[in-house]
Amino acid sequence: MGNHQRKYSLEPRDVPRVETSNRRIVTMLPVPESLPILEALERFEPSSMQGQPPLVIDRAQGWSVYDKWGNKWLDWSSGVLISNIGNGHPEVVSAIKEMADRPLLSTYVFAHEKRAELVKLLNSVAPSKGYKVFLLTTGSEATENCIKLARTWGFERHGPERRVLVSFENAFHGRTMGAQLAGGNASQKGWLGRLDESFVQVPFPDGYTNRDLRFDLFVETLERKGVKPSQVCGVMTESFQGVGPDFFPDGYARNLESWCRENEALLIVDEVQAGFGRTGKWFAFEHYGITPDLIACGKAISGSLPLSAVLGRADVMELYPPGSMTSTHSGSPLPVAAAVASVKALQAGGYLENAQELDPVLRNGLERISARHPDSVGSVRSRGLVGGVRLVKRGTHQPDPLAALAVNTRCFHKGLLMFAPVGAFGECIKIAPALDISHDALVEGISVLSEAMDEALA
Ligand code: PMP
Repeated sequence: MGNHQRKYSLEPRDVPRVETSNRRIVTMLPVPESLPILEALERFEPSSMQGQPPLVIDRAQGWSVYDKWGNKWLDWSSGVLISNIGNGHPEVVSAIKEMADRPLLSTYVFAHEKRAELVKLLNSVAPSKGYKVFLLTTGSEATENCIKLARTWGFERHGPERRVLVSFENAFHGRTMGAQLAGGNASQKGWLGRLDESFVQVPFPDGYTNRDLRFDLFVETLERKGVKPSQVCGVMTESFQGVGPDFFPDGYARNLESWCRENEALLIVDEVQAGFGRTGKWFAFEHYGITPDLIACGKAISGSLPLSAVLGRADVMELYPPGSMTSTHSGSPLPVAAAVASVKALQAGGYLENAQELDPVLRNGLERISARHPDSVGSVRSRGLVGGVRLVKRGTHQPDPLAALAVNTRCFHKGLLMFAPVGAFGECIKIAPALDISHDALVEGISVLSEAMDEALA
């Protein structure tokens, strides 16, 4: 801990000028005039906040991100998969303004009209009807709430033995305590000290770190770890694991669902990253044909402001009496108004269709890049408009976060913005443009990435 190396240099560098309809780079990078701002953040914030390319965002609209100094980036970050409908969507902006002008800025859990509209709307877009919806603020709160509900349900329906929460190796469910106990990344668990034996992980069938794609491995691992199915209150998984991104192979998720049904365990799907159209369906689990008992949502739910939600089977959502499962900002008016506008825009706007249409364009583009660098690319994966390239040390299977940083830095200099996955999984270049990105802008981004890879890996 402490003395961490900054990932991106704050030394301004001359970079080639860029001018296209999607990108404009006309200064040194980082911009010398932006340094006081970047340095203030470095001085007054923990260095944990220092992991992203050094630009100071002034405004963001559609798939463009601008600074004050004339630069414009083609945005392949969508925040961090937040602005699926594009940055600063006009209907989201006007919904926020309308609520602010009224004004109605906070309500605790007193009723407001938009909250009723949102929970109805979320219910209508969920593939299975009859879910109850609990609104929270962050993705971590949503996954924590799923864990709490599964444990409560296990105790109340089956007794104290039913307390094991099964999740997957390499999973990410957030940074709070329960979310990290359920997470599958050992390097994030040091601070927990003693681990809780009722949180158990099994290998994720990613075909990369684990090549055994049989569902039997799930059952065998539980047996090997001494966990009886009768002890399992729930199984929690992301619809896809973010680094990769890795999806379940055909049939696996349906086997998992059957296992949960046979053993009366709740099936909990974390859609915080995957939801709201990212993969070309409202929820990514729809690709697998499963029906979760609990769904954790966040990020793109509002296309902008902090909001999350748990959608759940009514009997599970009703475990707590009035006043005992709430949060100060549950259903806060501004994020809720943004979410109503955002969900309606997603319904109306052809975003899912565009993500489906561009799916092969992104996949083929990444495969072409991979073919140029067979020794340095560990995997390329994509579905809809989420993709990733894992970089490895040449000719090995060892992750190469420094190569990913070099590629990302070059993309940043060329006007293509991606967030950098950091820490233990920093080897993945992650691609997540707005879902209405044009064919041409997507292809332009792919060629910038290809150029950056050629240069960084030369
Ligand atoms: N689950 C998943 C799958 C995520 O990707 C994230 C955020 N990256 C979270 C949970 C946590 O969300 P938040 O950062 O809003 O707490």
